[in-house]
Amino acid sequence: ETGILCARILARAEVKQLPTLRPVINATGVTLHTNLGRACLSERAANAAAEAARDYSTLEYDVENGCRGSRYQHVEALLCRLTGAEAAMAVNNNAAAVLLILSALAGGGEVIASRGELVEIGGSFRIPEIVTLCEVGATNKTHRRDYEAAIGEQTRALLKVHTSNYRIVGFTESVPREELAEIAHGHGLPLIEDLGSGAIVDLEPFGIRGEPTVQRSLHAGVDVASFSGDKLLGGPQAGLIVGKREYIKRIKKHPLARALRLDKMTLAALHATLSAYLDAEIAVREIPTLAMLSASEDELHAKALRLQKALADTGVSPQLVWTGDAVGGGSAPAQELSGWAVAIEPGRLSVDELEEKLR
Ligand SMILES: *Cc1c(COP(=O)(O)O)cnc(C)c1O
Repeated sequence: ETGILCARILARAEVKQLPTLRPVINATGVTLHTNLGRACLSERAANAAAEAARDYSTLEYDVENGCRGSRYQHVEALLCRLTGAEAAMAVNNNAAAVLLILSALAGGGEVIASRGELVEIGGSFRIPEIVTLCEVGATNKTHRRDYEAAIGEQTRALLKVHTSNYRIVGFTESVPREELAEIAHGHGLPLIEDLGSGAIVDLEPFGIRGEPTVQRSLHAGVDVASFSGDKLLGGPQAGLIVGKREYIKRIKKHPLARALRLDKMTLAALHATLSAYLDAEIAVREIPTLAMLSASEDELHAKALRLQKALADTGVSPQLVWTGDAVGGGSAPAQELSGWAVAIEPGRLSVDELEEKLR
């Protein structure tokens, strides 16, 4: 009795000494699990981050000219090349990007957005709390005339928010980007889009529909778009801002930019991640998020078999099952990616007890 008690106390004490942030095995089937750290970095990106962490670097030094450089320059050319944007910058996360864009381009004024796109994301980040928002339309339908009627003296921009973590279905209508751009530009205003996940390769071949690429958004006339680094892009936590030179210039100069800037490890990992996208095939192979989302039925089957084998002698009767899971990270809502999984029978334990043991 005393022996068992001592062992339990020791085990408890050991757990208490572990860092609260520690590696786990993601057995949920959700690729971009926000609670489990979203995207996993590629080998190349992780190495780049480690190198930047250990050594001195050219973070803010211009080697060619021998003078102070800018940390914004490191990923700008790549982002422009990949998305077709004129200019770009990266900040701490997409929430920061949206905050910065709206502060720089619409601070003190009003931004017009559709009631169907007033997104709340995890941690209660809401657009209406950043700028004065002029809401137009209804939850399910917003028309061109709604935007047109709302434009006034105070209007600084039109905002489109990609409803990345929910879908409005049924009797719906929204104004396409091309038309929004036409309205905005007709009044000399910028069209801003918060893309949320922001893919730069087309994910439709992998069964992920309804995620517009950044290129498509810019091509449709969006002047400034922002997206996350650690959702579908599969890189480190970051907020990427791409668009027209004149607007990006104003955004870079805003005082908040300094407060929202990226650190060197993230910049190094981001650069390595974006580099992989220069060849879409390499990106899909190297970037874990893309590799997992595009895994074939055979690969998933082989993986499930290995897991089944590993669990064979544990008394949980592992069975292969065909099932579906969410992409996660507030991406591709209402869509499941199907694949093979291993179902287990907890035996003597209840499901809750097993879950507690795994934790
Ligand atoms: C996820 C998301 C954000 C926030 O991005 P973070 O990188 O988590 O800060 C903002 N807007 C939309 C539409 C999103 O999906």
